[in-house]
Amino acid sequence: MSFRSIAIDGPAGAGKSTLARRLAERLGFLYVDTGAVYRTVALAVLRAGADPADEGQVIPLLEGLDIRLDYGLDGAQRMYLAGEDVSGAIREHQVSGAASKAASIPAVRTFLLDLQRKLAREQDVVMDGRDIGTVVLPGADVKIFLTAAPEARARRRLLELEERGQAADFQTILRDIEARDWQDEHRTASPLERAEDAVLLDTTDLNLDQSLERLLVLVKERIEP
Ligand code: C5P
Repeated sequence: MSFRSIAIDGPAGAGKSTLARRLAERLGFLYVDTGAVYRTVALAVLRAGADPADEGQVIPLLEGLDIRLDYGLDGAQRMYLAGEDVSGAIREHQVSGAASKAASIPAVRTFLLDLQRKLAREQDVVMDGRDIGTVVLPGADVKIFLTAAPEARARRRLLELEERGQAADFQTILRDIEARDWQDEHRTASPLERAEDAVLLDTTDLNLDQSLERLLVLVKERIEP
């Protein structure tokens, strides 16, 4: 039996993870957040005191890396590093920057490729990331490239942080988002780019519910329920 897969790519803060998770819930598919996997590698690198931008320091660490992805009783994806649940730790600000740097190293991407593909071989998935439609699952049944203007993405992120009671500043967030976009788009290994056959969905002027409805229409046009 072959499983169905939906690839959702796009820049940081476009609403990918929230939308992909809700889409997966509606379809009864497994949601796979691949950014969390890159973040876990980055956390391991930082904890080892290594520089995530330095191939020479990162590559030797890969071999001993014990990374596991699992799902909690509430269905949420959890990441484990050497048996420790690091799902909260990987969301720290410094890990975001480190993940983007480590993700530029081709050996890191190759190292994570099998783990990601294996998940899609074993169940129906909605997988989100930067290169899912282009590299990880080029044969995905549906490919979506989700984007939004940087200012809209920064505004959403600011609200999210404020809701969590964390102080934040719009200009700093915007600068961060633009820096990560640049890094993700300009790396040589699997840069962030829209697959030729991906449908572009710009969510700048859409709220979450409207975006989800658009996604459901796109998916239902392409796969059997
Ligand atoms: O999606 P998220 O922001 O959590 O991803 C963290 C970083 O991991 C991104 O900035 C990106 O550089 C990298 N990443 C990637 N390929 C993926 C998913 C994430 O390069 N499929």
